[in-house]
Amino acid sequence: MHQNFQKTIKEAIQLEGVGLHNGIKTNLSIEPGVANSGIVFKRTDIEKGKNIIEANYQNVSSPILCTKIKNSHGVTVSTIEHLMAAFYGEGIDNAIVEVDSPEIPIMDGSAFDFVEAIRSAGIQNQKHLKKFIKVLKKVEIKEGNKHISIEPLANDLIIDFEVVYENPLIRTRRKTFKLSTGDLTSIYNSRTFCLYEDIDQIKSQGLAKGGSLDNAIVVKANKILNDDGLRHRDEFVNHKILDCMGDLMLLGSRVFGHVKTSQGGHQLTNKLLREFFSDKTNWEFQILEEKEKTHKDSGYPSPIAVIA
Ligand SMILES: [Zn+2]
Repeated sequence: MHQNFQKTIKEAIQLEGVGLHNGIKTNLSIEPGVANSGIVFKRTDIEKGKNIIEANYQNVSSPILCTKIKNSHGVTVSTIEHLMAAFYGEGIDNAIVEVDSPEIPIMDGSAFDFVEAIRSAGIQNQKHLKKFIKVLKKVEIKEGNKHISIEPLANDLIIDFEVVYENPLIRTRRKTFKLSTGDLTSIYNSRTFCLYEDIDQIKSQGLAKGGSLDNAIVVKANKILNDDGLRHRDEFVNHKILDCMGDLMLLGSRVFGHVKTSQGGHQLTNKLLREFFSDKTNWEFQILEEKEKTHKDSGYPSPIAVIA
């Protein structure tokens, strides 16, 4: 019902956990946001006037191994992508995310806890209609073997993701996820992953200080080091789809389009969004009036709250 109206959460959410990269114990509080305010991050450990960072692709700064956003005062918040993916999938348009450190807690490495928290707080419809971004023209970014593109698609989002690893366990996997009919649960609960042999190099960059087998899948040759193995067969590529969905949320509106990528990641997605928005003829806003709504009886799995 009322899928086309903007949404926020009914009640505030409190969570705590450690930052994957900074290793700091962090308190996270998500408050309802007013209509048309979008997703706004607020650093409670930074003085007022400098502590607001809007979740916007233009504020993304050096997206290496996570998505980090920065305001004009240089204040940052990082690893926002799994929370942003939860907002995307659950249809939340407006919220204030308060955090007392520079990084969103990693929780179990997936979006599971964020989604559970949003669902238990409840979702509030607001009086304003959602604005969707309709892709009008194909835009593509290529970098060596990597590429990402977005092209027109009516009233839905498809993410077609290919991961290519030499590792014998991850290897090449491709999955096409359609938001209106896909299984969001297996996207939400897919955890971040890394190769055992990369850990030293990642740590030497000052990253992954809070990383452990409790919040990341670690793959060594053809073995998963986590006791319980994978949550499902597609967990690697599903996590990449989760990341991509979270990064798309930085458009400020949900997108009607078809994303195709091989070896994509935060940096490539951000380049695509910048290129896409640099030309006004690539897109337009689309508003779905309630009377156009046809999904009510279409059997879409609840709670897909994002499309008509
Ligand atoms: Zn991720």
